[in-house]
Amino acid sequence: MAGITRPLIFPFSLSNSIFRSIDKKSVLHPMKKSIQPFGLQDNHLPFSGLTKPFSFSTSWIHDCCGNQVPVPNSGRGDIRKFMSMAGGSSSQMEKQCRDQHDVIPGLRHTVWDQQDLRPKFPKIEKDESADVVVVGAGIAGISCAYNLVKEGKSVVLLEAKTRGSGMSGRTTAHLMLWYDDFYFQLEKDHGFDIAKIVAESHKRAIDFIETTVKEEGIDCHFYRLDGYLFPHDNSTEAMDLLIKEFEACKRVRLDVKMVELGNDPAYGKVGKAIQFPNSGEFHPLLYINGVADAIVRRGGRIYEKSHVFEVEKNHVKTKDGVTVTAGAVVMATYSPLNHNLAVHARQTPNRTYVIGLKVPKGSVKRANWWDTYDPYHYVRLEQKVDYDVLIVGGEDTSSGMKPKDYHDPYAQLEKWTRERWTTAEEVLYRWTGQVFEPVDHLSYWT
Ligand SMILES: Cc1cc2nc3c(=O)[nH]c(=O)nc-3n(C[C@H](O)[C@H](O)[C@H](O)COP(=O)(O)OP(=O)(O)OC[C@H]3O[C@@H](n4cnc5c(N)ncnc54)[C@H](O)[C@@H]3O)c2cc1C
Repeated sequence: MAGITRPLIFPFSLSNSIFRSIDKKSVLHPMKKSIQPFGLQDNHLPFSGLTKPFSFSTSWIHDCCGNQVPVPNSGRGDIRKFMSMAGGSSSQMEKQCRDQHDVIPGLRHTVWDQQDLRPKFPKIEKDESADVVVVGAGIAGISCAYNLVKEGKSVVLLEAKTRGSGMSGRTTAHLMLWYDDFYFQLEKDHGFDIAKIVAESHKRAIDFIETTVKEEGIDCHFYRLDGYLFPHDNSTEAMDLLIKEFEACKRVRLDVKMVELGNDPAYGKVGKAIQFPNSGEFHPLLYINGVADAIVRRGGRIYEKSHVFEVEKNHVKTKDGVTVTAGAVVMATYSPLNHNLAVHARQTPNRTYVIGLKVPKGSVKRANWWDTYDPYHYVRLEQKVDYDVLIVGGEDTSSGMKPKDYHDPYAQLEKWTRERWTTAEEVLYRWTGQVFEPVDHLSYWT
């Protein structure tokens, strides 16, 4: 992935946010398998659009939340009878289940369990006013709202779905000191002073998260660790690139070292690498939840399932016609809903892919890893009780293109990983998300 982090304030890009498109293939795939025994065709798929669709077996169906629901006297014909008993049509059942369980469509099965997110804060029902209204409760909106309430401002935060339901619930949550479009490139494009500010902002962003975690008592697996940038192959070009970046990192005053890791599989068989001590990682949804609670504790108002439809200078209006009037409006929707094409024309949407593989505890060193490839691979661990999960991302494609037309990103990721981290066992997770790349690599245009 190129350009996943370009924070001047936070390690996640602030300026971008738009609803990701639902990847129909992965949504429908599990249903196809289970529906076929009933002889239904693809165009009859009754619950398309759900991330956790109902799936049929002879005696059970899965409801929209993944719970198994028994079908009385189940047999081939009985599923339809059951559906009519349960409310008539399949879509009515889907709706009933969603209403009952408050399911948010479009969530993913990620290592963070984004699929289990449920709204915790109310929907906005009446007009309100505040000093600032923030739209979007991903890492950007939550962080912004938190800083505002800390400064004594009255804040309303409006979220269309639920906090963390966007890209912040699909991220791999590396808190990087490395700038992933390369510091030497940044110096070339924007000059040394800007490159230095960017490096400083990455440091401060991680410090900010660490301080917030401590001050608010948030248990989100925040951890300081080494990050390693390594050459993508054995070529002289790849090594030259690494050395060039090492020199640029030193110029922008990052505390980096060139190290030799000895091709140990616990280190992903990496040899020479730039070490970035004091990088970080966390569990993004636990963090977002913790900060959301802190906002409310400090007097902020958060509303979920409150989709903003209209944005003006000093007010926003939801789909249900509720207006929030404010001195300022912050759009933290990943890509803004306003500004027409002024921002969108300067962003390239890409899709990035992630797999999570089971690894025996302790078999892989806890660190962050990035290679110099374009698009680059990004790797980290998340610890579970009995095993660890090696989380590997990359193989980005342009959004809107069908990856299967030219390569299989998940298979490629798996192959790449198994060649390096040889203790990797089965793949437990596969997910994808969208990243907006500013054309100048920095969103620095004026
Ligand atoms: C697979 C993947 C891996 C990544 N890895 C990393 C990484 O390791 N490190 C890193 O720094 N970055 C990483 N990124 C990038 C990072 O995740 C994003 O930059 C970041 O999450 C964006 O946060 P955000 O708050 O701007 O957007 P989002 O998290 O998408 O939040 C936007 C919110 O706005 C809401 N919204 C949208 N429209 C409306 C509306 N009309 N009304 C109300 N609410 C609305 C959405 O529902 C959503 O909750 C990764 C991204 C992906 C996809």
